[in-house]
Amino acid sequence: MPLETIHKTTGKQSVAPNLWDYEEVRAGFTWDAARGELDGLPGGGLNIAHEAVDRHLIQGGGERLAVRWLGKDGTVRDFRYRDLAELTNRFANVLRGLGVEKGGRVFSLLGRIPELYIVALGTLKIGGVFSPLFSAFGPEPVRARMEIGDARVLVTTETFYRRKVASWRSELPGLRHVLLVNDPEMPLIEGTSDFTDAMAAASPEFDIVPTGAEDMALLHFTSGTTGRPKGAVHVHEAVVAHHITGKYALDLHAGDVFWCTADPGWVTGTSYGIVAPLTNGVTMIVDEADFDAERWYRILQDQGVTVWYTAPTAIRMLMKVGAEIAHKYDLSAVRFMASVGEPLNPEAVIWSQQTFGRTFHDNWWQTETGGIMIANYASMDIRPGSMGRPLPGVEAAVVERVAGGGVKPLDRPMATGELALKSGWPSMFRGYLHEDERYAKCFAGGWYLTGDLAMRDADGYFWFVGRTDDVIKSSGHLIGPFEVESALMEHPAVAEAGVIGKPDPMAGEIVKAFVALKPGHEPGEALRKELLGHARRRLGPAVAPKEIDFRTNLPRTRSGKIMRRLLKARELGLPEGDLSTLESDES
Ligand code: ATP
Ligand code: MG
Repeated sequence: MPLETIHKTTGKQSVAPNLWDYEEVRAGFTWDAARGELDGLPGGGLNIAHEAVDRHLIQGGGERLAVRWLGKDGTVRDFRYRDLAELTNRFANVLRGLGVEKGGRVFSLLGRIPELYIVALGTLKIGGVFSPLFSAFGPEPVRARMEIGDARVLVTTETFYRRKVASWRSELPGLRHVLLVNDPEMPLIEGTSDFTDAMAAASPEFDIVPTGAEDMALLHFTSGTTGRPKGAVHVHEAVVAHHITGKYALDLHAGDVFWCTADPGWVTGTSYGIVAPLTNGVTMIVDEADFDAERWYRILQDQGVTVWYTAPTAIRMLMKVGAEIAHKYDLSAVRFMASVGEPLNPEAVIWSQQTFGRTFHDNWWQTETGGIMIANYASMDIRPGSMGRPLPGVEAAVVERVAGGGVKPLDRPMATGELALKSGWPSMFRGYLHEDERYAKCFAGGWYLTGDLAMRDADGYFWFVGRTDDVIKSSGHLIGPFEVESALMEHPAVAEAGVIGKPDPMAGEIVKAFVALKPGHEPGEALRKELLGHARRRLGPAVAPKEIDFRTNLPRTRSGKIMRRLLKARELGLPEGDLSTLESDES
């Protein structure tokens, strides 16, 4: 892996980056002190929605723009912090009118429309538990998640209700209320009520129900990359980590225009697409539309986005369409760019430096961790291919499981082991819903075991190797798919690569790669040979793929992750497993 360091250049910037000193801040950091940066509820207790919204009104920030919503059709809607406070109060009153009490589960099945954000924060105000579902899920994944999550209320649209809910609604008697965000002129469907009418009739005044730090607030389902999605439980105390990580890992300041491109149906879109930007008092951009390179560059330019948080899958698509398109736009307002969700190939970091004059900063976390745990910060030099260093307040290690259920940290630099985090950060999940045993298995000796393999270098930078499930054992070598994929991506013809281990009588497993090409390149024997040769030169014969197949696309989850388990199951003719989060299949 390349270990060279990229030293930062500075460009035109609207807000100065916070060049905090990593060692100094870490040394002086305590979560108790971090809690002190938030207010707590006026009568005692902690509530995410208070910190995200109402607090700003008390501090005189009510007029500031909280959300700028960009509709697919070009409509723009602005919400000040004051507007958000009023609308979320109304929704909390709507829920009260429906008899929802503390702990009641409220699900949304909505596109990225303003109502989604109002439902999220209004639910938290009444002490309810909010669970966002991807609007693109089919009927069965929607039903399964709502059943696991004991849904009491669902907010959706008429179209989604007809297509994805109506057929099974009677099987979930616990789902008492369905609110439809509709055109008010439309006749109502039986058994549902109208969101807009209910909001109009509700009072704009509401006192947040007292919630404690440990009260359940959010229920997030994992991406389902490695198997059936798990329901991770998060509590109000998570807001402490959302706030602090927004500040340190994403460099959020009041005055920033922040765009997190993730959908709230995935944890990134909630922790950093709702909570962290609002607690930090920024203006957040919400784009209703799906990925489109030109649209994205136009948003960055026209909205003057200063901090941009996206994912490797989108970055790879931007690379695929080419830098020329980026150069048509003035992106000089962008100060900080970050990426999460999958390993960020060094090639993508280098491309971003060449194309934008600044680099993407990779950071690592999971649905379970609730917030960013390891990151490349604005204030530090980054190493392309590394996920960075642990946040203040986070202790990370590379460990080995030992007999008897304990773990042993591996202190030798660049030793490969399981990435583990010392338990106790505020946004740590408090359970997998209805899966206590599975939850308990994630912990040993005071550590949370992440299921990812990593290495740590002598300077404390962490390097992702692969998921424990994806790692390949070939002739005694432990091979992480990421390293092989990154090497393939260095070849100018390659847009994307997914690598699996294929059983082999001699080697145990051999490395097999599935490759999608950039426009203008044709699959064929000559290119296959060239790629095999390129990989062998870069990686050596022990690690390089022995087989390469070409694909137009790789199978991907809705949160944009390559589904290696599906490539593998198909290669081996095995059952495909849970496909509820599959977004785009291979072709
Ligand atoms: P499931 O647990 O259902 O299989 P998932 O693990 O993909 O799905 P998420 O919680 O959305 O669900 O994703 C977290 C995982 O994504 C991490 O454990 C890691 O494997 C991967 N990941 C996230 N960020 C990074 C990163 N910066 N570098 C490498 N891998 C990352
Ligand atoms: Mg996972």
